[in-house]
Amino acid sequence: MTTKHFLQAGTACLGLGLALVSFTPLRAASAETRQAVQARVAAEFASLEAIYKQLHANPELAFMEFEAAALLAKELRALGIEVTEKVGNTGVVGVLKNGAGPTVLLRADMDGLPVKELVDIPWASKAVKKDITGKEYPTMHACGHDLHVTGLIGAARTLVALKDRWRGTIVFIGQPAEEGVSGARAMLTDGLYTRFPRPDYALGLHVFSYLPAGLVGYTEGPAYASSWSVDVAVRGVGGHGSTPHVTKDPVVLAAQIVLALQTIVSRELAPGTPAVVTVGSIHGGTRRNIIGEEVKLELTLRGYDDKVMEQLVAAIRRICDGLGRAAGMPEDRLPVVALQPGRANVTVNTPELTRKLAETFRTWFGADRVQPVPPITGAEDFSEYGRTVHRVPAVIWTVGAGDPAQIEAAKKQGKSVPTNHSPDARFLHDPTLQACVTSLTAATLELMPVK
Ligand code: ZN
Repeated sequence: MTTKHFLQAGTACLGLGLALVSFTPLRAASAETRQAVQARVAAEFASLEAIYKQLHANPELAFMEFEAAALLAKELRALGIEVTEKVGNTGVVGVLKNGAGPTVLLRADMDGLPVKELVDIPWASKAVKKDITGKEYPTMHACGHDLHVTGLIGAARTLVALKDRWRGTIVFIGQPAEEGVSGARAMLTDGLYTRFPRPDYALGLHVFSYLPAGLVGYTEGPAYASSWSVDVAVRGVGGHGSTPHVTKDPVVLAAQIVLALQTIVSRELAPGTPAVVTVGSIHGGTRRNIIGEEVKLELTLRGYDDKVMEQLVAAIRRICDGLGRAAGMPEDRLPVVALQPGRANVTVNTPELTRKLAETFRTWFGADRVQPVPPITGAEDFSEYGRTVHRVPAVIWTVGAGDPAQIEAAKKQGKSVPTNHSPDARFLHDPTLQACVTSLTAATLELMPVK
């Protein structure tokens, strides 16, 4: 989840990845299979814990996940899984073929964040790592992607050990650069759905420190928001501050634009439509007595519907152009509105599949450990796996990773615990890891015919 990035439930989302799903050979895993999985997860825990601590102490930044990718590749190969590295830069793809059946993609993202860890644990990160441009940052797994990678390894071990109980193909992927929402697209562009078996289902999970460890949450339909970035160059005709009548002042025009943009959500969208237009940065001018040539605005847009996002951009263009003309700007000095690359699209969980997996999780974990969670305004590039032309049914669910006592104490004080991306975010790997491994395994088995 990347909080720097935010979309609406309802009919407008129906084109986004909500492919019609026919659940052909679904069969709930037997009580005996569930017990076998639990026994396996317990037997693997010490080894998985060691992997988790190693990953946590050695976080790497987006598209620089060399050690995590190598570790994941080594672990999958050790299980006899066919592994390809460097898919979409640092991505890892492991293909496990086990007879005729559906293909299920299981995704773990691998990157950490440029955050200096402040959590007091023996395996806390002291790492300073380079980003893709060579700049160094204190680095932390502040979004719990280390738990995702370890969970994927655990699920691979469990599903290989239980190979005689299911049929089909599993594609395990270690995705780079979820933070910055470009890794999924990099892997798809590099042939994830053409060089490797194309999935019938794409599955993933995300851990959150604000939910108690071990709890499993699900969101039907839109789960993570779209996040688009827009830059506006408000141009003017500069001159002396004492003679505004012979200039065109971009500062005054920028101020009018900022206020007019506030009317898009409040006056142009239907009431109740979630969306955000924020001008986060405004820069212009050099000295008090100079009317400058340009003011730059940086905007972030959030929403839960592609059509709403397009509507926001169109309104921004119309307002900037119209106010530029009203200010008497010459044609070649009108404001320039530019949609920036690297946008995140809404993550939509296929409703039928979500309901099915929620039922599966209740059987496996008990109803008290499974609950619906509301959509969040952070963004996820997991969205891309379902949004391709193939419209793959996709679900990303939530696993709680916070200390229940700490969450309860914070609640009593009317506060919340440090969230993902915070230097103080505390992830309780036990029992979070077990819940990650078990939920990935349970969901996969649910979609595979029983041998
Ligand atoms: Zn994340």
